[in-house]
Formats: sequence, structure tokens, C-alpha cells
Amino acid sequence: MEKILIVEDEAKLARFMELELTHEGYEVFIAEDGRKGIEMFFEKEPDIILLDLMLPGLNGLEVCRRIRKESDIPIIMLTAKGETMDKVMGLDSGADDYMTKPFAIEELLARLRVIARHKLSRQASTPKNIITIKALEIDTDKRSVKYDGNEIELTKREYELLIYLAENKNIVISREQILNNVWGYDYIGETNVVDVYVRYLRTKIDDKYNVKLIHTIRGVGYFIKDED
Ligand code: CA
Repeated sequence: MEKILIVEDEAKLARFMELELTHEGYEVFIAEDGRKGIEMFFEKEPDIILLDLMLPGLNGLEVCRRIRKESDIPIIMLTAKGETMDKVMGLDSGADDYMTKPFAIEELLARLRVIARHKLSRQASTPKNIITIKALEIDTDKRSVKYDGNEIELTKREYELLIYLAENKNIVISREQILNNVWGYDYIGETNVVDVYVRYLRTKIDDKYNVKLIHTIRGVGYFIKDED
């Protein structure tokens, strides 16, 4: 079921859209101001956002910009009549579309169908995301890793570490960079966690298949080598 987040401070309008969209089979969440909207975006992971422009506190443009930093989720801006300048700014800020209030629900449903069609055609045309390094094959769509066709079971963290090294293949990466990117800036703990996980990966890939993919540069960091 597609999830729609409505960020709208006019309770009546929000409730009306909720009823109609629920009736159409969408799962609907309502946030009554901008801050709540951003919170619910992270919490509910919606598929589409209907975002009012004039909101108390954080306005719609700011909400749109902040969400755009995180995601390319379709955003339809809801503007009041006559906010022509704002319409343009709304699209500049990364909104996909806008609608002027008041609008007929049929118009909103039509826009949602357009978004759904775009999404389908995007999915159909997306090439498979496969990273290949020698006989190692990582399919990032399926999150599967194979060596010479043999499936390798990795934990979530091992997989993320491998992806990070593979996406930066042939480039030496410091422990700190790895920590920041794989464990996150807020990681508190032993920095040798990186060495420990590199060892796990070596056991599962290098040692098992008798190859040398993961290289150590003493005192600097690690890298995956694609060339001989
Ligand atoms: Ca408003």
C-alpha cells in the first residue's frame, strides 16, 4: 500500500484529503506543522508527500529542502491562490509538482497517478546495480554477494563495509573514513572495530577463495584492489 504524508496545518483540508485518499486505498499520515512533517517523514517512510507551503514554524519550502537532502521522494506542494512566486520557488526547492488550493480531489488523484506511472517507468529502466571486482559480484539491489558464483553470507555491517570498499575500489581509505561512513559519525567505541571487520571479510572472501582482494596499507588504511 502506498503511504502518503500530508503536511498541512488546515485541519479540515487535511482531514478531507485523508478521507478521500484512504478511500482510494492509500495509507495516510497527517503532520500539522513543518517540524512534525520532517519527523514523520523519517518515522513513517512515506512514498509521497503533500506539502503545504504556508506552515507555522518551519515553512513548506524549508521542509522541502531538508527532505530533499535525504531523499528523492515525490513532493507535491500545496499553495494558496495567488502565490505565483512561491510556486516557482517551490519547484526550485525540489518539489515535483504543485497544486493551487482549493483543488478538486480528482485533480489530486490524477497527479498521484502520474507520479505512480513515473515511478514504474523509472523502476523498469533502472539497470541492475552490480559491482564486479575480479570474480566478486555484488548485487546491490538484491544485497547479494557472490564469489565465482558462490553465495557469500555477510552480516549487515560486513556487507556495508564491503560495499564502501568496493565503491571506492583501488583507493586507499583510512580507518577514520571507514568508521564515519560505515559506522556513522556518532559511533562511540573502539576504532579497531574496523580492523576486526576487515578480518571477518578476509576470512569469508580472501581466505576462503584464496584471493587477495582486501589490501592493508600499514598506518594508513585499507583498499580493495581490482587491478593486478
Ligand atoms: Ca497553511
